[in-house]
Formats: sequence, C-alpha cells, structure tokens
Amino acid sequence: MKVLFPEKYGFCNGVREAIRKTAAAIDKAGSASLPCFVIGDVVHSSFVMEELGKRGLIRVDSPEEIKGPGTVVVRAHGITDMDRAILIEKGLEIVDATCPVVLHSQSLIRSNPEMTVVIGKAGHSEIVSLLGSGAAVLIEKPSDLKILQKGEYPAVVQTTFSVSVLDEIIRTAASMGISLKLLNSVCSASIDRRQALLRLAPDVEAFIIAGDRSSKNTVELYEVGKSTGKPSFLVSSPDEITSEILSFSVVGLTAGASCPDTLFQSIRRRLTNA
Ligand code: SF4
Repeated sequence: MKVLFPEKYGFCNGVREAIRKTAAAIDKAGSASLPCFVIGDVVHSSFVMEELGKRGLIRVDSPEEIKGPGTVVVRAHGITDMDRAILIEKGLEIVDATCPVVLHSQSLIRSNPEMTVVIGKAGHSEIVSLLGSGAAVLIEKPSDLKILQKGEYPAVVQTTFSVSVLDEIIRTAASMGISLKLLNSVCSASIDRRQALLRLAPDVEAFIIAGDRSSKNTVELYEVGKSTGKPSFLVSSPDEITSEILSFSVVGLTAGASCPDTLFQSIRRRLTNA
C-alpha cells in the first residue's frame, strides 16, 4: 500500500507545550515527594494520558477530589474560573498548560460586560471552560438559536469547531434578526490540518485519520475526509486497521492535533507493511 501524507498533521503547538509543561510539573512535584494532578485530560489522547499516568500524573474529575498539598496542571482546554478559585483556595500549586488560543477566548468572554454567545460542542472541555469564564450562553446548532432574542451579540467559537456548521449558525441567525459578532475564529492549527487534507483528496482512494475519538479536532478531520466523498476511517491504534482499509492501494494518512508521533508512526508502519 502507498501512503501519502498532508503537509500538516499531528501535534499543534498548544498540545506540544501542554505535554511539556505537564511532564515538567510531574517531575518537579515528584522531586519534592508531592503528587501532581490534572482535572480531566491534559489533551484529548488516551495514549498521551496513559504515558503521563505512568510518569506519575493523577487524573481527577473535579477539584473537590484533590486533598492535601501538591501541584495541579490546568489542561490544554482550560478550566472554569470557579474551579481555578477552588484550587487557589486549597493552596495547590497551579501549572497552567491552557493553550494560549483558548486563554485568549476565555479573556474575550471575561472582559465582555454583556452576555457572550459561545458556539461549540456541549460538554467538550473547552466549552466547559469558556462557559465558566463569564456570562455566556451555548449555541451548538442552528435550532438552538431560538433561545436568543433578536439583536446583536458578541460571539466566541470553539477553537476546533466545524467551519461549515459555524457558517450555518451565523446565516440562520441573520435570517432570524440575530447578528452574531465573532470575536475569534477556529484556530489556525485546526484549519491548516483540514485544508492540507483536502489538497490530498485527488491523489488518494481513502483517508485514515489517526487520533482519539474524544478529540474534536480529530473528529472534524474525519468529517472533512468524508466530505470529499472518499471512504474515511478514524483509527486510535494499529489494531483498528481493518481488512477493508488494507484493500486500498493509495491512502492519505493524517493525524489529529493531539495524536502523538509514536502512535502515528505505528499506524503508518502497519499500513506500509501491508
Ligand atoms: S488545536 Fe488549536 S486551540 Fe487546540 S490546543 Fe492546538 S493550537 Fe490550541
């Protein structure tokens, strides 16, 4: 099988830096015989979380679970202002690994005296952190717009959101007399990986997207692959490479922004050795 690669794929700067800061925080806490925690996942990759867990990182679901002294890493997609206040109150050392792009979105909401419309996927860690950064209301799809009165609203979009769904939401809003003034945009790392994938489409029979199903960025790459009409497969490990995948002669292989190179290379090897 021939495997082609897009010009951009895999780790973005935000993910790379979050992992680097977390590894350093684990080592520093460990040298003082203190635990190092994270609320949720540092990045959306079970592979990365397993590696960081082996190194000593303790994953919890909420700040209330953390007892005693130690360090807490703030995940790449940030946490709510309330959770941060609880961590400070507990006297924990905070290592902020929030991606600067997400920090910027949070600050836009925080500094806005009016209500901000947050456009994104309900329950995603970035959306949880954005909604917890000030007065904000979530719009996930065009039908959600009915909760808004006619008028003009500042809006912040999830960094990895679908550009086509965003356009649809803005168009539908306009037809309802609602003007959404976007204060940010889908992050360039997400856009670059999607556009690079599209450029590969004429040369391949199918797309393989390496990464985690919990990663919005990865799922969007998969959707972009499907939108070209080519069969597309999201695989989280080499074991998920099926005989159907191996039946293609030329595939395009890409990776979500939180997919580590070790995992990407093991998937590549499985494909090229076929
Ligand atoms: S995908 Fe964009 S927002 Fe998310 S961590 Fe990477 S650079 Fe930051």
